Amino acid sequence: MKTHPLYLNGEFILTEDSLPVRNPATGQIFARMSICARETVGRALDDAHRAFPAWRVIPGKSRGDFLLRIAAELERRKEEIARVITLENGKPLTQSQGEVAMTVDHLRWFAEEARRGYGRIVPPQTEGKRHLAIKTPLGVVAAISPWNFPLMLAGRKIAPALAAGCPVVLKPASATPVCAALFAECVHTAGLPRGVFQLVAGAASEIGAEFLEHPRCRKITFTGSTEVGRILIAGAAAQVKPLSLELGGHSPVLVFDDADLARAVEGTMIAKFRNTGQSCIAANRIYVQRSCAEKFIPAFLERARALRVGHGLDPGVDLGPLINSAAVDLALSHVADAQGRGAKLLCGGRRAGDAGGAFLEPTVLLDVPGAALGMCDETFGPVAYLNVFDTEAEAVERANDTTYGLAAYVFTRDLNRAFRLMESLEAGMIGINDGLPTASNAPFGGVKQSGWGRELGVEGMDAFLETKHVSLVVG
Ligand code: NAP
Repeated sequence: MKTHPLYLNGEFILTEDSLPVRNPATGQIFARMSICARETVGRALDDAHRAFPAWRVIPGKSRGDFLLRIAAELERRKEEIARVITLENGKPLTQSQGEVAMTVDHLRWFAEEARRGYGRIVPPQTEGKRHLAIKTPLGVVAAISPWNFPLMLAGRKIAPALAAGCPVVLKPASATPVCAALFAECVHTAGLPRGVFQLVAGAASEIGAEFLEHPRCRKITFTGSTEVGRILIAGAAAQVKPLSLELGGHSPVLVFDDADLARAVEGTMIAKFRNTGQSCIAANRIYVQRSCAEKFIPAFLERARALRVGHGLDPGVDLGPLINSAAVDLALSHVADAQGRGAKLLCGGRRAGDAGGAFLEPTVLLDVPGAALGMCDETFGPVAYLNVFDTEAEAVERANDTTYGLAAYVFTRDLNRAFRLMESLEAGMIGINDGLPTASNAPFGGVKQSGWGRELGVEGMDAFLETKHVSLVVG
């Protein structure tokens, strides 16, 4: 069994200690990942700081060329990397292939953006003065990524930070470190200068504490749970350390009776079941207008029942395992809670597949009271909660009745309604007749307790740039 190394200051380092990496489809360990102690993380941040002066002055176009080389290497190894994503995360292979392709696209987008760290010239208000707003890279960035899109969400941080001129130290999720190790190999092959990208792994609280307390670490960019986001916010106070936070979501779907119902069913299926329901922008609450409920609900149920559960490497599988058995137990506890409060179980609600695998049947519940656990907290799995509404005002009120604000989905053909809702829904991303509102060149992020800042788009690189005002007296 292979133990994957860390990547520190341009070298692959196998350490004495390692953590096991399990295939959630079988529960079996298939690889190990080297881990390091807190001092090593501190040294990585120091090395990154030493790499910063040379990296920041390379022209943006040349930094972009490095990103293009990483993208080319990922593409060359795409089948191998996709297979690893499926092995450690469980998702169907086609979705892992899509994840690699999207990561390549992120790298290419930020390779282009690297040329565009534009400032601006501000007209003077006083005779003889000139004002410039310039953008400069803010320094060493620590990135912490989750397991649900282990390659893509790491890439979404690394690419813009490198494009901006910032060195990066990545800590991947302990459940899915192997694709990060392969990413480090791609970086190495691309010839990045030593220290510009490094990979550490190990105890999250220790590594997180080092990122927070080390003065050379100038920013932490984090994707994960709101709970850990709160820990980072509290820890960042001591050094007033900037944070970008992509946190949990609880996305509503609103299906109106004027929608193209086939498109609404298709979009809701994607929003709910993609990545086996383990997506931060997953549909957690589905509200259907009463006047179309009789058509929408049976059509959605038929599609949900037809989903094929199985090992992600098997062809034709729609839903892989959840990340581990505890995640299945948690999702089932949400289902039981909803039923206990009077919700009707329309399908699913049981473990599926082989013992040892973390499989859950696609599950649909109807008439789920707002106080049910799954209507308030994320059910990170293939569980759909359906409810019926009457008016648009009621739908908006129920959609916004959450502490989260990541994504929201609307299915309607009424343009006036689409505009009203894009303005009134409290979410950072709104899919209108679209179950997958993500693109490399458009901002991604949440409002309320779903996070701070935006990834992707021009905003994605701006997160790693400081704006400085330069005032000159001339003449
Ligand atoms: P998590 O438990 O918060 O873990 C995320 C990352 O944080 C992992 O690398 C984890 O390391 C690390 N971590 C854990 N405790 C830490 C600490 N005290 N200090 C520093 N780092 C720490 O979240 P998850 O279960 O992996 O991911 C699921 C959550 O992420 C969901 O809530 C989902 O909605 C959210 N998410 C949000 C977005 C978005 O863009 N908004 C995207 C995807 C996922 P270990 O693995 O070693 O514990």
